[in-house]
This record gives sequence, structure tokens and C-alpha cells, in this order.
Amino acid sequence: MPRSEFVYCPRCATRLVTRPVGDRPRQVCPQCDFIHFTDPKVGIGVLVQHQGKVLLVQRAMTPEQGKWSIPAGFLDHGEEPKAVAAREVLEETNLRVEVGELLGVYHNPLALEQGGASIFILYRARLLGGELRAGDDALAAGFFSPDEMPELAFASTHDAIQRWQQAETDE
Ligand SMILES: [Zn+2]
Repeated sequence: MPRSEFVYCPRCATRLVTRPVGDRPRQVCPQCDFIHFTDPKVGIGVLVQHQGKVLLVQRAMTPEQGKWSIPAGFLDHGEEPKAVAAREVLEETNLRVEVGELLGVYHNPLALEQGGASIFILYRARLLGGELRAGDDALAAGFFSPDEMPELAFASTHDAIQRWQQAETDE
């Protein structure tokens, strides 16, 4: 059973019922035929490298408060993923970047339970400029080399760092 977000129909306020729709049970409105589809939550992460170091931010909020992650945020309806990537870096670190190649798309089914993203899109980005400063939702921000990594948050950050280190070794 999927977790219910609605009790009443958001269109006509009739009490919703659960019925099979296609291959799974969904909440539907018996009055107006509204179907509640549970869309995945999509996160965007950015790997910013500069002079052999990678940009990390220290999380001010739960989950994983106090640990470090790459700049990341949620994709809202109608937003362009690369634009979100650049915006998150700017908001969290005050740095301007040019978002480049796609590094990967990950499925993280457990993240949803913690309020995280079930789909995570990872981009590489190039530093353009700006003065490094932690944003409101970060305790600190900084560049770290592979041998001075702080305690990392999230599997997605571990994975991004690992990819980056492999790429560095290959060069
Ligand atoms: Zn309805």
C-alpha cells in the first residue's frame, strides 16, 4: 500500500477510496474520477571540482545534520534540471558555476522515508567565480582534496566522490 497523502479529493473534496489502477492500488475519487499518482521526488546534485579539490557543504538541517554533501536540491515541477543545479550551488556556496556533463542518474528507494529524493541526478560543473560563503541552509562550505575528506552524508555523495577520485586517478 502506498502512503496516503490525501484523505479528500483535492479537486472536489469527496472522500477518496483506494482502487486498483493499472498495476497497483491508487487513491481515486468516486465523484470526479481524480487519480492520485505518487510521483517520485527528484534531487539534483552537483560535483564542482577546482584545483584538485571538490566543493562540499556542511548540512545545517536533518537528515544527516553536521555531515558534508555536494551541493544539492530538489527539482520542482516545471524546472529545468541544469538551472536547478546552478541555482543550488549559488544558494549554498555563493559560487557561480557552468553546469556540464551528466555523471549519473541514481535510484534511492530508501531516501523517500527520510524526506530525500528517490531519484538523484548528478552533474559535473565548472567554477566560474564568486566568493565562497555558506548559504542559509549550510553550516559551512569549502573545497576538499581526496585525502582530507570530512564525514560525508548520503550514499549519493559517497558515490559522487568515488567517481571523482576514479576520474582523477585515470587522468
Ligand atoms: Zn473528486
